[in-house]
Amino acid sequence: MDNHSPAIFVGDAPGLDFLNSVATPVDTPIDWLSDGEGLLRWLEQAELVPRETLVAMREQALPGELDKVADQARSLREWFRAFVLARKGKPLASDALSELEPLNRLLERDEGFGRIVADQRDESGEFAFRPMRKWRSPEALLLPIGETLGRFVCTEDFSDVKACEGHACTLLFVDHTRGHRRRWCSMAMCGNRAKQAAHRHRLKQS
Ligand SMILES: [Zn+2]
Repeated sequence: MDNHSPAIFVGDAPGLDFLNSVATPVDTPIDWLSDGEGLLRWLEQAELVPRETLVAMREQALPGELDKVADQARSLREWFRAFVLARKGKPLASDALSELEPLNRLLERDEGFGRIVADQRDESGEFAFRPMRKWRSPEALLLPIGETLGRFVCTEDFSDVKACEGHACTLLFVDHTRGHRRRWCSMAMCGNRAKQAAHRHRLKQS
């Protein structure tokens, strides 16, 4: 397994899926953002950037340019991870705002605009207003990520942000279950492993 394998989307929030873009699904850590190509592939899987924009970026970028953006994406990711790990499990306090200043600085670089397009969702011939973004340079690839993180901070209850209880698992998720009893990134990855370990433990005891 390497970063060509499908990325992990178990966070139940795109902002946490971004943090989960480095993980250890089996026993070797995989960083899906380890280079520029990896970043493009991850953005496509996360559906944060239109495919045609990614194709154009790949064709037009200067050598090394996308790798540099991937470096920045990883720095952004680890900065945001420290923020989330320090704040999870309780409501976000108002003093968090000053800490979020670097994210606000990223967000203010955004160049969004709207476009009237044919609404493809139905055949009624009506139009839809679609938010768009100018992609002036490869660094603009960081902007939809920044937007995702900003929306995460403003819409999710940090009380429900949890780390998977799996041994050595680093995956994070928002527990949107009604009883707030979610414990694992996924049953397939950690839940079953924990069940098997408990089962072996019980066998040993008896
Ligand atoms: Zn896990």
